[in-house]
Amino acid sequence: MAKNFLSQLVGSFAMPAAENPTVTMMEAAFRHHDMDWRYLNCEVSRGDLCDAVWGAKAMGWAGFNCSVPHKVAVIEHLDGLGQSAEIMQAVNTIVRRGDKLIGENTDGKGFVQAMRTVIDPKSKTVVLFGAGGAARAVSVELALAGVRSIRVVNRTAERGQGLVDLLNEKTPTSAELHVWDKTFQVPLGTDITINATTIGLYPDVDGRLDLDISSLTPGMVVADGIHNPPRTPLIKDAEARGCVSLDGLGMLVNQGVIAIKHWSGVDVDAAVMRKAVEDVLS
Ligand code: NDP
Repeated sequence: MAKNFLSQLVGSFAMPAAENPTVTMMEAAFRHHDMDWRYLNCEVSRGDLCDAVWGAKAMGWAGFNCSVPHKVAVIEHLDGLGQSAEIMQAVNTIVRRGDKLIGENTDGKGFVQAMRTVIDPKSKTVVLFGAGGAARAVSVELALAGVRSIRVVNRTAERGQGLVDLLNEKTPTSAELHVWDKTFQVPLGTDITINATTIGLYPDVDGRLDLDISSLTPGMVVADGIHNPPRTPLIKDAEARGCVSLDGLGMLVNQGVIAIKHWSGVDVDAAVMRKAVEDVLS
């Protein structure tokens, strides 16, 4: 296979490549499948984003990933967007198709793919904590996968309402906002509860959602978008309550699997990538 160079355009990522979970898992997939590809980690400032995108195009890269803070800003430098990226107006994966750079979003797709290992989202009732980039990606893909309703629980009303309006206007699901100003009770009958906030993310490893744990009922699916650490307080609490838990590693790994498929057409082994991430995080 021809040499290809992919890169992650990150805003302020000082972590050496060997300790970067994304770089490690992508390179592990390339090695495992004997693909002569490289995944590089490049730190790009906001002001240099346009030049970086043009540089990637000029150098013939098959594509690249974008992290915060470039996920929205990169759009104006691209030639088009995939369906869900168009709806959510956020891109994490750029794919070269002919002479065009097309923006896709694999975060939410990766999450839904992980979710399908424990439950079919179709017609399910969802409670979603958060309304930032991850919440936007996850909720749009869940809506496109046919969930019945999404209750967005967010501290800041304006951001929460923005996501609710987007879901109601641009997807088939029904969404409503709950402003999160006191301990939240997950309504009876909720099938899936998701944390898409930054609460519990390293180094805030003891961070707990302001949530009445007793409202997590046995059999409910409880998912956390956080992958570092994979076993967050929410995941532990949910398991103690008899819920079906889903950690953030599945989302991280699957968004990478889908991105590599976009770039190369190859279906890579998710288990190999998960093992590589687990080794870094441990
Ligand atoms: P954003 O900064 O865009 O959004 C953060 C969200 O968390 C907002 O809704 C914010 O609420 C909420 N929040 C933060 N602190 C608190 C608090 N103390 N109390 C209540 N709400 C709070 O972040 P992202 O959406 O980009 O990322 C969210 C998480 O998703 C991160 O932990 C990230 O690691 C994870 N993620 C995981 C991926 C994976 O592959 N597993 C992929 C992408 C992201 P408010 O609006 O009120 O500020």
